[in-house]
Amino acid sequence: MTSGHASSPIWHPFTQHQLDPVFKKIVRTEGAYLFDHDGRSILDAISSWWVITHGHRHPVIMQAIGSALEQLDQIIFAEYSHEAAERLARRLIELAPPGLSHVFFSDSGSTAVEVALKMALGLFHNRGVPRSRIVVMEHSYHGDTIGTMSIGARGVFNAAYEPLLFDVASIPFPVPGREQETLDALEAYCRTGDVAAFIVEPLVLGAGGMKMYPPHLLTEFRRITARHETLLIADEVMTGWGRTGTLFACEQSGVTPDILCLSKGITGGALPLAVTLCIPEIFEAHLSEDRGRMFFHSSSYTANPIACAAAVANLDIWRDEPVLPRIENIEAMHRDWLSQFQSDPRFAAVRQQGTIAALDLAVETKGYLSEVGPKLRAFFRERDLLIRPLGNVIYLMPPYCVTAHDLQRAYEAIDEAADFIGAAAS
Ligand SMILES: *Cc1c(COP(=O)(O)O)cnc(C)c1O
Repeated sequence: MTSGHASSPIWHPFTQHQLDPVFKKIVRTEGAYLFDHDGRSILDAISSWWVITHGHRHPVIMQAIGSALEQLDQIIFAEYSHEAAERLARRLIELAPPGLSHVFFSDSGSTAVEVALKMALGLFHNRGVPRSRIVVMEHSYHGDTIGTMSIGARGVFNAAYEPLLFDVASIPFPVPGREQETLDALEAYCRTGDVAAFIVEPLVLGAGGMKMYPPHLLTEFRRITARHETLLIADEVMTGWGRTGTLFACEQSGVTPDILCLSKGITGGALPLAVTLCIPEIFEAHLSEDRGRMFFHSSSYTANPIACAAAVANLDIWRDEPVLPRIENIEAMHRDWLSQFQSDPRFAAVRQQGTIAALDLAVETKGYLSEVGPKLRAFFRERDLLIRPLGNVIYLMPPYCVTAHDLQRAYEAIDEAADFIGAAAS
């Protein structure tokens, strides 16, 4: 057995324990860096799976967590509330696209999406309208629970669970030049009258390979769904909190979804927390003298007070620090570096949206299990860079404190990696 991890009982996520190397213990984090117990400093060029926004252990968030600990731990969130959740909810409503009125708390991106689906089904159920179909976009990712896998792209990562996944209607990803096919497919499904909701990741499909589409299409999605009274669910679990260049990606389209899912960067990445925001109609459809019509959902750690305090501190950082200028600076640095790769035959589809930069290595084998993935990871690991390609798709999604020097190291390594892999247009 080549398991390099025999001494630990831990089963790690998205890990092939028979092949993957010994895990390095991280003993400290700061800014854009992880420090391991061998004393190496590793550039976190993917924000630790997209959660860290301002940088690791931002002092404002760390202090807020420390103060919150003096007062509260978890409290039950039915019958009772607490000030951090109240403040957070009010400020989220102020910041979110206009028209969203209520905030439901949970603890991960997957649960935020599950809640969104239940809100959509609950609205039509309580109105006595028989609608339960969900429309999704090809290549989407919405989480790893049975429900969120059902509405996400099918592939090797969920083949074993396929028998339990429910049916959804899927529209094609809007490939440049063929966007109308996507819009027509959405319109055709909505026209049937049995579609409860269309769920989509605004502007960037993350885990599906950093696939990007322009803001005007999101505006079209809104127009079409509104015309057929189909709910639009925006899954901004990844795109939220500045990643795409604005606080929320929906802003770039001037769109208010009926339901908005947020998690990952909501606490700046410090603690797990999620929210699902909705329009008044959905909340009101659950108001009744009948207890059988309440919203039947709860997570044990709903609105954890420490996590809520961290999220309020995150909003303070957005209010008090030049976060958008930092993001614009990263955008400009990405643009400069990417322009060098634009006509490079070793790469295809060189693209960026805000702080997210992505390029496809021109190799024969594509897809999540493409063997170039692990080779690239090892290559970057040797250079103390945390970069985890999605198959042949290399991307950078750094925290906003990343420096020009850090990005230079990352891009120079990507340049070398392409030669190492022997990428070339076929
Ligand atoms: C990460 C992600 C999720 C799932 O979030 P978890 O916190 O990992 O459950 C859902 N949707 C999108 C778009 C994501 O990127």
